[in-house]
Parts: sequence; C-alpha cells; structure tokens
Amino acid sequence: MTILMVDFKREYTEIRNEVDLSIQRVLNSGWYVLGNEVKAFEKDFSGYIGPKYAVGVNSGTDAIMLSLMCLGVGHGDEVITVSHTATATVSAISVTGAKPVFVDIEEDTMLMDTGQVEAKINDKTKAIVPVHLYGHPVDMSPLMDVSEKYEIPVVEDCAQAHGSEYKGRKVGSIGVIGAFSFYPTKNLGAYGDGGIVVTDDKNLYERLAMQRQYGWRERDNAEMQGVNSRLDEMQAAILKVKLKFLDGWNERRRKVAKLYNEFLKDSEIVTPMEKEYAKHVYHLYVVRCKDRNKLQQYLSKKGIQTMVHYPIPVHLQKAYQTLGYKKGELPITEKCAKEIISLPIFPQLKNKEVEYIMKAISGGYANEI
Ligand SMILES: *Cc1c(COP(=O)(O)O)cnc(C)c1O
Repeated sequence: MTILMVDFKREYTEIRNEVDLSIQRVLNSGWYVLGNEVKAFEKDFSGYIGPKYAVGVNSGTDAIMLSLMCLGVGHGDEVITVSHTATATVSAISVTGAKPVFVDIEEDTMLMDTGQVEAKINDKTKAIVPVHLYGHPVDMSPLMDVSEKYEIPVVEDCAQAHGSEYKGRKVGSIGVIGAFSFYPTKNLGAYGDGGIVVTDDKNLYERLAMQRQYGWRERDNAEMQGVNSRLDEMQAAILKVKLKFLDGWNERRRKVAKLYNEFLKDSEIVTPMEKEYAKHVYHLYVVRCKDRNKLQQYLSKKGIQTMVHYPIPVHLQKAYQTLGYKKGELPITEKCAKEIISLPIFPQLKNKEVEYIMKAISGGYANEI
C-alpha cells in the first residue's frame, strides 16, 4: 500500500461536477481576474469567518504582507512572531522592511508562548503575528490583552486554520486582521495559488483593496503605493464550491485525528494537544517522538509518506542569520523541531488506511525503534 500525505485527486473526484461547471462558467464569462466570482467568494468567506470585509489576494504570504502594509508597517519597525512556523510568515514580515522578532513556543501546543510577547515590545513594535499552526488556535485572550494595553495590532496567520475556533470564535475574527492562504494543501485550498484577508475595519479594508492592485482606487491613478496581488476568477469560483464542504472535511480530519489519538495514547509517541478553548481542525497531524528520523524511514519503507513541519526553525535558516539569533536562543522551538513528524491526514483518507498506518507504527515501535 502507498499512502500519500495528501491525495488531491480523491478530493477532485468527490466534487468534480460542481468544480467543472464553475470553471466552464468562468471560461464562458470572458472575465478572468478580480470580477464577480471574486466578489461572491469574498462575501461567502467573510460570512463564514465573521468579519465584514474580505479581500482576495494572490497567496497567503501576500495576505500577511499586505495586512502589515495596510497597517503602515515598514522599514525600522519590528513585528513579533514565532520561529516555529512556515518560512512564509517570516518572509512576509521581512519583505515589508520590518524586522521579525521571535518569541518561543509553548511546549504542549507548540504555538506562540503569548506570555513572552510583552517583554519584546518596544517603541519600534508595530504588529504581532500569532500563527495558528497545524490548525490549533493560539491562546488569544492574553495576547489581545497585551495588544490593547500597548495599542499594537494583531494580524492572525490563519494559513493552516480555516474553520478553527478559539473559545467558539473562528480564528481570523479575533485580531484586527486575519490572513489566510489557499495553497492547495491547506484545509481550504485552490487549484493554484490564492489567499485572502478579512477585517472588520472599513479603513483597513479600503487600503487593502487598493494595495492589492497598484494602489488604485480608480484605475490609472494610484492613491497609494501597492503591488499586484489579485485573486483570479477561476480560483475564486473553485473556492466558492469548496467552501461549502469545508466544515464536513474538517469534521473528517477530526475523526481521523481521534483514531490516531486513541491508538497512540499509551505509546511513547506524544500526540497533538487540543486545549479546552480550542477547536482543532488538524491541518496537520503532528506527533513527537525521540527518534523521528528512524520512524520516518521505517514508515517510508512501508509506503507511508510523512513530512516534518518544520525541520529548521526560521531563526536558524540561512537567510535570517542577519537577525542575529544564536542556536539555543529559542530552546523549545529548537527541541520541537528535532522531535516532530507529520502523519498523513486529509478528509479522503480511508479508515483502512489509517489502520494500516497505525499497524505500521506499532510494528515499527516494537521492532526497530
Ligand atoms: C502556507 C502558509 C503560509 C503562506 O501561504 P502561501 O499561500 O503559500 O503563500 C503562511 N503561513 C503559514 C503558517 C502557512 O502554512
């Protein structure tokens, strides 16, 4: 048996008719970028998450970058985030000219340790970017307290957390801005690149809408500086179809996670945490074990693909050496990076495949690890 981390073809097969129809509709319309399809999807998506406004953009990275730009973040500023994240979070900050400043993560959730944020705040701090990594929300209440106390806006990186909830509220609706990615692997993914920004603030919404297209309010007369980061009609039409399936797909992810959790609870493998304030949507199912590389090799021999999200914390990656972080400076981040491994999880993963993976793990643990 071969089991992939994600099998997109199964998903497409499930929704082929509706997707094909919407693609045909776009092709026949003769309008391919920023049109009615994008508008309709923006409305559906903001309705789903909660805030009034949504702006479709080119990618999740751009969603974060534009969020920071519309808040006026730039050269000389600092933005607080985590190093245990996709490189994208940090690159989106640094391309604005601002300096990423890292706090460590909590050992149990592997998410931003919000208790460390206040100590990093100074006159240059212009934004805080918590990352709802793996589909589990960051502990937002203490973070919002700090945000209010110092009047520093929070931009939520929700790229892995479509539909995830914190105390019954969808992530992306808690900070001043929520940034999402529609990269194909995400819980809500396009068949290409895409992203979106949601906010309740009309002024920020207007700036975002201009900045995603050269800074235009009306065409050919830029009111401010901007970039080209438009969402195309085809992706918007596809996403509009897929959004209807998101809750069901997230429920299926939760079921698969439950099967894994049950099976692994008495083993040496540490299973993911779901805090009492959280609704986890398991973008990834990330466990920890002593010899991650051995487990990965063993599962690979059994035809099971696994990945590591992420093997090198961003502060130790080559491009970010200029920030001046040393090995050992973010101890929990660095420890987790050595122990984590992501097992296959996606809505179309079958029970018998989950069983096969579980059997392989128990065999691996008994015999080789
Ligand atoms: C995927 C991802 C991004 C970036 O999204 P792209 O659409 O690939 O640009 C940002 N942050 C996190 C946590 C991600 O997982």
